[in-house]
Amino acid sequence: MVRIPLLLALGLATSAAFAGDTRTALVIHAGAGVIERKALSVDDERAVRKDLNRALDAGNAVLEDGGSALDAVTASIVVLEESPWFNAGKGAVFNAAGGHELDASIMEGHTRRAGAVAGLTTVRNPIRLARTVMEHSPHVMMAGAGAEAFADTRPEISRVRPDWFDTDRRREQLEEARRLENAGQAAKPSTYFGTVGAVALDKQGHIAAATSTGGMTNKRYGRVGDAPIIGAGNWADDRCGVSGTGWGEFYIRAAVAHDICARVAYRGDSLAAAAEAVVNGEVVKLGGNGGAIALDRDGNIAMPFNTSGMYRAWIKPDGSRGTAIFRDE
Ligand code: ASP
Repeated sequence: MVRIPLLLALGLATSAAFAGDTRTALVIHAGAGVIERKALSVDDERAVRKDLNRALDAGNAVLEDGGSALDAVTASIVVLEESPWFNAGKGAVFNAAGGHELDASIMEGHTRRAGAVAGLTTVRNPIRLARTVMEHSPHVMMAGAGAEAFADTRPEISRVRPDWFDTDRRREQLEEARRLENAGQAAKPSTYFGTVGAVALDKQGHIAAATSTGGMTNKRYGRVGDAPIIGAGNWADDRCGVSGTGWGEFYIRAAVAHDICARVAYRGDSLAAAAEAVVNGEVVKLGGNGGAIALDRDGNIAMPFNTSGMYRAWIKPDGSRGTAIFRDE
């Protein structure tokens, strides 16, 4: 008579210990590229790190509260989209026509639900519309005028004039790209990628990943990169999540985000080995470059890149956190 409740109590105590043991993790990036100390002033570096930390805090507050990985990555990405420092939302790069076309996607690992948008011109936070596509439509991806028309039906989606995304820094980058093109020199897509991304693990052990971008400077003809393509620039399943940044055409051709998680799922590769093999192996073999952030259900984090720098920040399951920009950090 006494033994059953005792066992039950022990069982409850054990599961409570496990529940208390559920730890969260969050990793974000704000683009890989040629980011060198001599080109980044002390003040600019401070401002970039401040915004990386703000994005980390926004996502981490959700996770600490017991919120979902999906809410956490959304919160982090909105902060990065609002920051003029990064190529997503405010501060997005200019396309060849002198405007902006924004792409974003989001994915929830354990349900494999996903939402994506491409070629937006007036949606202030593309990640929010990507999530709305996932949650309030039967579709996964909407593009251009159709996506904007869908946004018209959703009062919770904030709209802005297309020039709201403008910044002087990005205009100078467009002018430089045009100068190079007129001089017959090859464009340098690797100079700076500023796509933003976030991957989170919540207390329930669920993973979500999100990616948002203005694409690449001087892009034309409705070009869409990897960021809104599920499996290329973004992926989450029940054991692994990835967000990429880099030369999007190569990330699409290498199915980067899915390939990393597939190596973990099918071959049992460690997250670090899988991320390294894809970013520094497959992408480079094709002639591309960039980086990625990846997170697995044990809270392991990988942040490989093959450019001189990648804006990145993380909070590990043990609570330790950091920001880094350059290769030697
Ligand atoms: N991957 C993005 C694209 O090709 C660029 C970036 O990472 O900044 O659109």
